[in-house]
Amino acid sequence: MINYQAKPDLLNKKTILITGASDGIGREVALTYSRYSANLILIGKTKSKLKKIKQEILSTSKNCTPLIHTYAIDLLTINQSKCYELVTKINQYCPYLDGLLHNASILGKIAPILEQPIKLWLDVIQINVNATFMLTKSLLPLLLKAPNSSLIFTTSSVGKKGRANWGAYSVSKFATEGLMQVLFDEYKDSHLRINCINPGATRTQMRANAFPMENPKNIKEPKEIMNIYLYLMGKDSIKESGMYFNAQDGSNYNIFI
Ligand code: NAP
Repeated sequence: MINYQAKPDLLNKKTILITGASDGIGREVALTYSRYSANLILIGKTKSKLKKIKQEILSTSKNCTPLIHTYAIDLLTINQSKCYELVTKINQYCPYLDGLLHNASILGKIAPILEQPIKLWLDVIQINVNATFMLTKSLLPLLLKAPNSSLIFTTSSVGKKGRANWGAYSVSKFATEGLMQVLFDEYKDSHLRINCINPGATRTQMRANAFPMENPKNIKEPKEIMNIYLYLMGKDSIKESGMYFNAQDGSNYNIFI
């Protein structure tokens, strides 16, 4: 997968929603998908960052201008009515979604369980798990209306094997993989494919916060791991579902075997 070569029209006219699109990996995914002609719905917390990325995409688009809608939504406060509002807005210009990438997350505090602040624990679970569930539940009907669609969750290496001090973040990634597995089992006979990506060590603010002593030059930049994001969002992965993909080395396996 690491050497996957996407065709230039891979995402032509596909409508794809990305959460956490205002920074880090999600930002790079938005830029990359736009280069493959996708129409984008971008969600992030910070309005100014979303505005900047929209301008960047529009100023660099060569052939046709992609449709880009941005929504500054704080996933900490998302609830059923805000999800309904979002779906109503999307429905005004788009009958279905071809793809949804759940990428937004927060790290919380790297500390032993005994020192995990309760409020921050709840925030991590709200953003990384509850918001992911609420958005998935609300957007599933739009994904199921598409001829073929792709739902991608973002996990981490601490989402399968717990690690000391990774507290709420690790637990939230176990839950993310659990949600992905439950959904896969529910939709395995449909045209919706459901997979998860572990980006692995990637040069972003979250990584810098988690490993402040690390030299960022020793780890990959987001643009170096984009192949897997292209592969899973485009039609070349149409038969892949219930799979775990490591973006660093391209390895993958079926979670159910
Ligand atoms: P990042 O640079 O910290 O970016 C996080 C994104 O999530 C930003 O767009 C941020 O928006 C958004 N976000 C955070 N809190 C939000 C909230 N309350 N409401 C709405 N959006 C919010 O993180 P990253 O490193 O790119 O990580 C992306 C994904 O990869 C995450 O799921 C992470 O767990 C996973 N991952 C990363 C690594 C790594 O080494 N980087 C490794 C394994 C897994 P604002 O910019 O507007 O705040």
